[in-house]
Amino acid sequence: MKNPRIVVNLEKLEKNIAFIAAKLAASELSITAVTKVFEAHPEMIAVYDKFPEIDYFGDSRIENLISYQASPKKKILIRIPMQSEAEEIVRYADISFNSELETVKCLNQAAKEQNKIHEIVLMVDLGDLREGYFDQQELLADTAEIMKLSNIWIKGLSVNLTCYGAIIPNHQNLGQLVELKKQLQQKYNLTLEMVSGGNSSSLYLLDSSTDYLPEGINNLRIGETFVLGRETAYGETYPQMHQNVFTLKAELVELKTKPSYPIGEIGVDAFGNRPEYVDKGNMKRGVAAIGRQDVNPDDITPLDERIEILGASSDHLILDMSNTGDDYQVGKEVEFSLSYGSLLSSFTSRYVKKEFIR
Ligand SMILES: *Cc1c(COP(=O)(O)O)cnc(C)c1O
Repeated sequence: MKNPRIVVNLEKLEKNIAFIAAKLAASELSITAVTKVFEAHPEMIAVYDKFPEIDYFGDSRIENLISYQASPKKKILIRIPMQSEAEEIVRYADISFNSELETVKCLNQAAKEQNKIHEIVLMVDLGDLREGYFDQQELLADTAEIMKLSNIWIKGLSVNLTCYGAIIPNHQNLGQLVELKKQLQQKYNLTLEMVSGGNSSSLYLLDSSTDYLPEGINNLRIGETFVLGRETAYGETYPQMHQNVFTLKAELVELKTKPSYPIGEIGVDAFGNRPEYVDKGNMKRGVAAIGRQDVNPDDITPLDERIEILGASSDHLILDMSNTGDDYQVGKEVEFSLSYGSLLSSFTSRYVKKEFIR
């Protein structure tokens, strides 16, 4: 079985990594390569592993950190830990991001049992309203408590932006992170060697003429830009990078001329929605063997501009192929480009195969 599949061009990936690695190294930033969007696939991890500029691998899933234990890079759990996974985190992650004192105590207990020092980075919420300390007094008070724990080392501070609240990083909100670091350093005589200033949405600050990355930020965590070749604050592509490392391919299982308007009384579709249709007369409709179980049809784009996506059910993608002449037959593949969301879902679907080319 080979379809549906994602074709990954490892040479393009390597060029993308080289570009961003050089860019961050020039700004004296350490790099956390975030591996969740491609399920930490070993073929891709091997490419990242070649770059000494990459200091850390970060992932939100402990399973992915476990999968690359053999890598010499330090491993960071970038999602706030579940208390129930404390034992695995201490065993398989060198560092974890935290915002709850009780959870840090669980990690301390697990670290004691494993005779280890576990490093943590405290997460600060600067307005995106996903994870992190929002109340600075709570951060100060918890830091004092954490310092009493025998097997926990506070490695630094971190912020995440542009994920839930879509807040754009700038010198002001990232400057607050640097200020907090100074406060903690003075108050508690802490070293705090890592100040991690966000994800692919912070990259634009390195090139901006109107804003800047404040001094003191010394790490960025990059997932999307490496693989899709664009920064994510404004969605600008880097002309030096490839935006098509990945191509999704799905196979046509039916190609027939049918009406564009369904026949009979319209109720609700398989997902409980009441759809609306435009009557465009008869059209050549293709059915490809991929569906919502793998990918949201709104988040993929046919590479052949003559093809339009009409919709999808769990396992079928329906295409308007009226303008494609005789170029497609049943058994042929249709190709799509991927966004972050569709890459995430299709790459982590076990039904979608992965093929690696150079
Ligand atoms: C996913 C994630 C990242 C990487 O984000 P990109 O936009 O893919 O660069 C960084 N930090 C945290 C905490 C994340 O969850």
